[in-house]
Formats: sequence, C-alpha cells, structure tokens
Amino acid sequence: MMVTVARGAHEPRYYTPERVAEARRNIERHDWAKRIQTRILKGQSDTYYIGRDYAPAETYAAHSDEFIWLLQPTTRIPRVFPAEAAAICPVHGLAVRQHSAWHPWRIDPIGHPYKLQCPVGGEWYPSNDYAAGDLTSGPYPDAGDGFTVDGRTYYFLRDYAHRVYGNTTIPLLRSFSQAWLITGDARYAHHGALLLARLASEYPNYEDRSDRLYFARYGGRSPTYSWKTGGMITDLIWETFCLEATAYAYDALAGYYDQDPELLAFLRGKGLPAASGDEVRAYVRRHLFRPAMQALLKGDIKGNEGFHQAAALAVAVVLDDFSDDHPNSADMVDYAFLGEGHAAWFLINGMQRDGGGHESPGYNKIKLDFIRVARLMELLRARHPDRFPLGRYPDLFGEPKTLSVFDWFIDLQLLDAFLPEIGDGGGPLEPRKVARYRWSYLDAENLYAFHRTGDPRYARAATDYAGQPFAGELWEPYPAERVEAALKSPESVIQRTSRLLDGYGVAILEAGEGELGRAAMVNYSSLIGHRQCDDLFLGLWAYGVSFLPDLGYPFSWAYRWQWDSNSLAHNTVTVDETQHAHDAGGQCRLLAETDGLRVLSVSHDPYPAHRYAGQPCAAEVDAFERTVAMVDVAPGRFYTADLFRVRGGEQHDQSWHGPMVEPVLPPLAWSDLPGTLAGAEVPRFGKWRDRWGRDRDDFPSYLTGLKRVELAEPAVVTWPFGLPSGEALGLHLVPVDGPLQVFAGHGRSPARPESWRLPYVIVRRAGAKGLASRFVTVLDTYQNQPVVQSVRLVSSSPLVLEVRHEAGTDKLTWTAPDDPSTGTAPLALGVSLERDGRTTAVGGQTPGYGRGTVRGADLAANRLMIEADPAFRQQCRPGRWVRVYNDQRSAMARVAEVREAGGSLAVSLAGSALLARGPVSAAADGALDLEAYLLFGSSRVGADGRLVPGHRYFAGSRLTAGEQTLAVAGVVRGERSRVMLAEAVPAEKLQPLVGQVASLWQYGPGDRVELALVRD
Ligand SMILES: [Zn+2]
Repeated sequence: MMVTVARGAHEPRYYTPERVAEARRNIERHDWAKRIQTRILKGQSDTYYIGRDYAPAETYAAHSDEFIWLLQPTTRIPRVFPAEAAAICPVHGLAVRQHSAWHPWRIDPIGHPYKLQCPVGGEWYPSNDYAAGDLTSGPYPDAGDGFTVDGRTYYFLRDYAHRVYGNTTIPLLRSFSQAWLITGDARYAHHGALLLARLASEYPNYEDRSDRLYFARYGGRSPTYSWKTGGMITDLIWETFCLEATAYAYDALAGYYDQDPELLAFLRGKGLPAASGDEVRAYVRRHLFRPAMQALLKGDIKGNEGFHQAAALAVAVVLDDFSDDHPNSADMVDYAFLGEGHAAWFLINGMQRDGGGHESPGYNKIKLDFIRVARLMELLRARHPDRFPLGRYPDLFGEPKTLSVFDWFIDLQLLDAFLPEIGDGGGPLEPRKVARYRWSYLDAENLYAFHRTGDPRYARAATDYAGQPFAGELWEPYPAERVEAALKSPESVIQRTSRLLDGYGVAILEAGEGELGRAAMVNYSSLIGHRQCDDLFLGLWAYGVSFLPDLGYPFSWAYRWQWDSNSLAHNTVTVDETQHAHDAGGQCRLLAETDGLRVLSVSHDPYPAHRYAGQPCAAEVDAFERTVAMVDVAPGRFYTADLFRVRGGEQHDQSWHGPMVEPVLPPLAWSDLPGTLAGAEVPRFGKWRDRWGRDRDDFPSYLTGLKRVELAEPAVVTWPFGLPSGEALGLHLVPVDGPLQVFAGHGRSPARPESWRLPYVIVRRAGAKGLASRFVTVLDTYQNQPVVQSVRLVSSSPLVLEVRHEAGTDKLTWTAPDDPSTGTAPLALGVSLERDGRTTAVGGQTPGYGRGTVRGADLAANRLMIEADPAFRQQCRPGRWVRVYNDQRSAMARVAEVREAGGSLAVSLAGSALLARGPVSAAADGALDLEAYLLFGSSRVGADGRLVPGHRYFAGSRLTAGEQTLAVAGVVRGERSRVMLAEAVPAEKLQPLVGQVASLWQYGPGDRVELALVRD
C-alpha cells in the first residue's frame, strides 16, 4: 500500500496530540515531570561534549534570528584534528589536561561565540572574532585550519565547531521543540524551526557537501584511530543520538513553518527555498534526513547496538515516507531490523537464556536501548499494520527470554546493594559499608517491563528503596496508580534467596533480611567480552560489607593481563601459573539448601584439553571445581566452608586477597623471602624465564615483601577492616593432602603509586604432573567476635572437618569424588552437617540424587515430561533446582510447577530454554544457514569442512523448525550463521525448512535430569 507523503499541513507522527497531552498531564501530576520541564526550559549544566539532554530554551529564545542562525557553525570548518593537538593550550600547555584529557575547554556560545576558554588561565582562543567575519586579528588567530606557532598547530575553531554541535545545537533543538509542545509559546517554535533549517543547510552529504563529511580532510578515516571511519557532523557513534534527537525535533517543529511568514522570509534571505512550509520541509528532508539515511545504510552513522537502530526508526517514524524515493522509511526499518542493524533477532541471539549478556554485568545495560527501538516499531506497525508482519519484524520484547533481562538485573543484585565483580567490573578495594538501597541495577527501565507484563515485581524494581517510583518518560503514559496498586500486592516483594543465573554463569547463596543479610557468589560465567581470568572466583558479603572485593575494571589497560585480569590476582586457583583460557565451559551441578545449610557446586574448564594437550604446562587439567557451603550458627552469624578441587598440571596456586587492609598472619615460623614471587633474583616488575620455559612479566614479579611458611596444621589469617562496626575476615587454611606452602606479600600494578599495596596470601601445592589438590578453607566473616573458634581436619577420606564455633561444634562431611569435572557426567557432590546429634545434608551419597529422563518437551513453554525415579518424584517441587544434561551440555533450572501427567511428571521450569532464533535461509548437507547473527556461535570450521575441536556453545542443543527437531553440533556465527548438525542429514531433507524460523533450545527429549536431594 502507498501512503501519500505530500500534503498541505504537516501531521506529527511521534508527537501526536495524545502524546503531547500525556506530557502536559505528567507535568501537572508528577514532580519528576516538572523537573524535566525545568531542564527543558532552564537547561542542564554543560560539562562535556555529550551528556546533557537539554540546553536553556528560555535563555536562547531571547536571542535574535541572526544569532541562532550562526549558533551552529558552518561545516566548512572541519571538526577533526590530530590527537596530539587536543587539550593543549598555547600558554599553559598540557596543564589543561588536569581538567580533562579530551575536552578541557569551556565554551560560552552566547558570551563568547566561536571561542574556547582555557580552564587554567581563563583566557579565550582564538583571538580573532570569527563570528563577526574577522579571520586574522590578535596573537592567536584561527580561520578554521588552526593557529600554528613553533611547529605546533592549535585547532581552536575546529574544537569549538565539534563541541557546540553536540552540546548546544542538539540539546537546544530538543529544548526548543519540546518547550513549544509543552508551553505552546511560539518563540520556542520559531527559534527551533530556524535552527533546524540552519542545520539542514550545513549538514554534510555525498553530493555537493562531501568535502564537509567528518573525516573528509583525512581521507575518510580518523587520523588517530584507523578503525574509525564515517561520521557526518560528528563521529559515527555520537551522530546516532544526534540524528535521533534531530528527527524528533523535526516532528515537533515541521508544522510550524506554515505559521510563521517572517521565519520563511528570514530563511529566504539566507538563500533557502522557503516560499512555503512545504518547501522548507522538503528542504530539511532532502538536505538533512536523506544524507543521514544514506549514512546509516553506508555505516557512516553507527553506534553501540541499539543506538543506530533507534536513530533509523526515529527517522522512519517521523518521515513516514513509503514513496518510491529511496532511501525511505521502509528502507530504514529493513536496515534496522533485517540489515546491518539486525534488530529482529538481536536481543534473542545476543543474550543468554537467562537475559544475561556476553560481557561483564554493567555492559548488559546497553541492551535496554532496544526499548526505544521496540516502541518506535510499535508506532510504525500501528500506522501501517499490513506492512510490518510480526513474523518478519518481531516484537523485540515479545519473547519471554527478552523480557528476562529485567529479571536478570534484579537477581544479580546481592544484599540489594552489590553487583558480582565479574570481568571488567568491581567496586573499590577499601573496606566500606553499603546499606541496602536498590532492587535492581536498572531503574526506570523497569516501568517498561511492568507496562509489558503487569508483573508486580517490576513495579517494585521501578521504585527506589523508599518506595518512590523512579522518573518516567515525559511523553509516555505514566502508570502511577497501577504501580501503587502493584506495590501493595505480595507478589511485588523481591526476596533474596539462593539462586542461579545459569545461562550467564553466576551461583549465589543468599539469606537474611536487613543487616542480617549474607551472600556468597561464585563466578562460572564464560564471557566473550570484558572478561578477566577470574573463573570460579569467590565473593562474600555480610553486614553491608564486601569481604572479598575484586580488582574490577583495569586501572590501566597497559597492565591488564599482567595484573588486573591475571588469574593469580583473583580469589581462585591457577594451574602452572598459566592464565585461564577465555572459552565456554562453566557449569553448575548443585544448588540446594536446607535449614541452616546452603550449598553450591560449580566447575569451569580454564585449561581445555584441545588447547593444552602436549604442552609443558597446564596439560590434562580435568577437574576445576568449587563447592561452597554457607553454614548458619546463630541469627546473622555464620561461616562459609570452601572446597576447591583441581586436578592436572604440577603446581596449584590458590590466591586470596581481601580488601586493602593489612592482614594479621598466624604466629608461625615465617621466613622472609628476597625478590618477588617470581624468584629471589627477579626484581619487582622484572622479567624472567619461568620453569616451564616461558618469558614472563606478570603477577609473580608484582608480588613483593614476601614471607613463606610450610603449613601442616590449620591456621588462620585475619583481615581486620578497621571499620567502626568491627568487621573482619578470618581465613582458616586447612591442609588436607599434606602440607601447604603459604606465601604472604603485597602487590600493585606499576600504574599505581608506591603507597598503593594489596596484601595477598598465596597457597601452593606442587608435585608430579597430574597433581590433584583439594584446597579447603573456612571463611569467617564476622563482626567484632569471631564466629569460628577452631577448625580441625578429622579425616581426609572421606573429607571431614570439625568446626568449633560460638554455638557448638559442627562435623562437616564433603562428598567430592576424584573424577573429572569438565565433562557433564553426574558427580555425587554434597555436604552433610552434624550438630548436636542432628544431621542435615544435601546431595552426596546420602541423601543422594533423584534421577530421570526427558521423554517429551514443550520447549516454548519450558515444560519437560520427565520419567523419574521415586526420589526425584518425592522432592521435585517448586523452588528446587534441577540439572538437565546430555553428553555435551548441562543446565540448571528452577522448578516452577510440577504435575502428574500419564505416568510422567510434567515439570514447568522458570525462565526460558531459548538459546537462539532466526529464519532459515539455506540448507546444506548436515547444516542450515540462519539469517541472523548468533553471537555465541563460537565454533569454527576447518579446511576439511568439519568443526574444529574446542568448546562449542551450542553443542548438544536442539534446533526446531517446522515439524523437525534436530541435534546441533555447533554454530559458526556471522551476519548469516551456520548451524552444524550432529547428524549428516542430506540437504534435500532440510530444504523444506528454508524460509521458516528456526529456534535453538538448551535441552530436549532424551536428556537426563537430576535433583540433589535434601535431608532436613
Ligand atoms: Zn591557558
């Protein structure tokens, strides 16, 4: 169907009368909306190139037409210059970088147009008055190509032209247009419409203004970062949100051109075709949006995922152009959904089945930019219902998996305050107390989830800790009454209990309310980006304090692998001083709890056989497993028992560091060691050749001030935090299979000052190749008085500990068979606790595990038909975690509902089993191509056409399409991803699937299930 574009009056497509009425209503009723109105009219502070949404509409509206016209500089002035010319003052040199290494200059487009102010001396550059046509006067003149003295060039005007677009023109377009809609005051519309026309008259394009493109002076590429190409007025990333804002501003202002003959006369005076409103609108569309659309299609405008898709859809919505003139709105939607933007399947294929992303936790937030994309698509679909069928242009949050991102951000919070410090993320190392303060790492975004589902938990997550709802969006309906009602329902309570984010790889034990809250976390994630060598590191929180804080975001990328990301720097184990590989391989086998005993067990595969086979170090590491038990002693008083099992290689180092306080070492015969952990002769930060023949410059030579002792009996290292509330960490080291070598020292990155020092305790076992170690530690995280009085090894086989504490004596028995953990086979893992003649236990030999087999599945509903043994039947109930596995993959899922169904159990599992989805575009022998980017498809195909050995994220999963279910061997990702099937199904049998949408699922019929039994 064709929609006629040309019409007499402009009809807004985004700022519909309903939306404007909504904003006015929000301002009338809600303080947060009044605050936005104030920002629109009064502006926000100007600190950086980007970062402020609004500039002061009131102030700028008092200025003349000529002033507004010149506010946006001509794009004949380039905006790019070499990096060494950034942030340097002719008088104060590099001292300005103390204020910012990128944009230290202040600008004042009203008081000092076309000038930069030095933050050190307050002087203004250039010395000429460019805005008044003066190109030469004074000691520091700049006409656009910089001012050169002593062989150095200063690019005052370019810096200004770059800055003013991002931090004044665009925020002002937003402010003028929205102020007009809210107040109806024509001054705002007049100035906004004028500024928009000016922008169109200066916007670069690929025809007569190609010399004004962002990198035009540098051959189309950044003079500093060669990967950076494209850009229009600003660079390719920032242009995405500048363009999106410009599109909305056009929608608000375009109709005004019909109402202001004086404005049209002014524009005609500037040489623009402005005989009518239609003519100006056509001009803006042709000279601004057309090149911008071309730039999106060429990749010259492209930001983080979500940014360019939202820009493209905003343009599509406001132009509402389905004519034969390309690029048009249809091209923008196809680009965003099916082309380079691949939004159609991006959220499904870019997230784990639990809603987690592929990077460290904070980065997952970027996915929420797709809320705007989804909303804009709904606007288009409502206007053109026949043009955008859901099968081809899916509802981005219409699939349970994509909505689970909101649950993920709730479940990731520890004690309503902390985030697991996985990968490049982490808090300060100084001891500090944090009160509970938030339900989710997200805030107002939860309103969207609530809007979509009505789930009261999302309403709770959309409020702050005092119960006040977060600010909404000005132009959207704000469900204040519905949120208020939802908060009254018991379902809105967010209760912190033990849980897994099993798709992502986070195991959490958590219990207790308020100050009595306590949590342990082990990381078994397999990130693709922003990953560190931190597999299976342990975190502990209690009393609002992080007892094992991590290093977090690299302080300097220069020592990232030597220090910040090094496995020896984290609370985990390193084999043969070899760094953890960045492969898949994390899995959980056990999460269960009973009265006062909470147990988890997870494993990873940091030294995969395919990578280290035949190597001198870290070969044949087949067990790498951590089992953690949290044991309650009295209300809020507890201890944590930790068993780290590792097998393979010849040297095992378990690293421990607490916060940045000096630990008290046990009174033993410590000997002082010269040099560093790398050797007596290796100086701090020195290089050496290690005993495996590798040239090294990493963690061991960063650790100095060393003492060593051989530990045959349990001993405790204590970190007193120095907080008024008296928290301390007691680390009871328990030698199990012979004495331990214990090193104590302190380390720092060379990027830190001499005074910075992080104390470490390194526990070492060494022996012949194939070494098996069990590191047993009892962690006492207490306030004032230790909970644990002593720890004694009763027996090493079976592994039995006696823990004497303030309320009695515990006998703790571990079951952790000396078998490989890197495969998926069952291991009878478990812990039992005897106290006062009473035994509680999970898993192990007794009470053991219940078992079953998946006989059928409704995968979309995440419901399995299970043929189960009596023990499984007896204890399989809502809230328990079951493991579903086959020879190649393993997953844990929480039971949501259990029903008897014809001799089998129908078990509904919480969350989603969906791994990936996309339309089948081609079939080959034993393979299908999907028209989708399967981000986690890490497999590669060798020259022989077969999969290269290694971890395969999708191995053992099931593909369903049409009536067929096929076992998957691996996926090779690409804009078109190839699914390699487990069986050599001939192409002609797969051909009927072409054109259908295929889904890949975590499990399927034939898989086995197990359930750790609990005795209480
Ligand atoms: Zn200066």
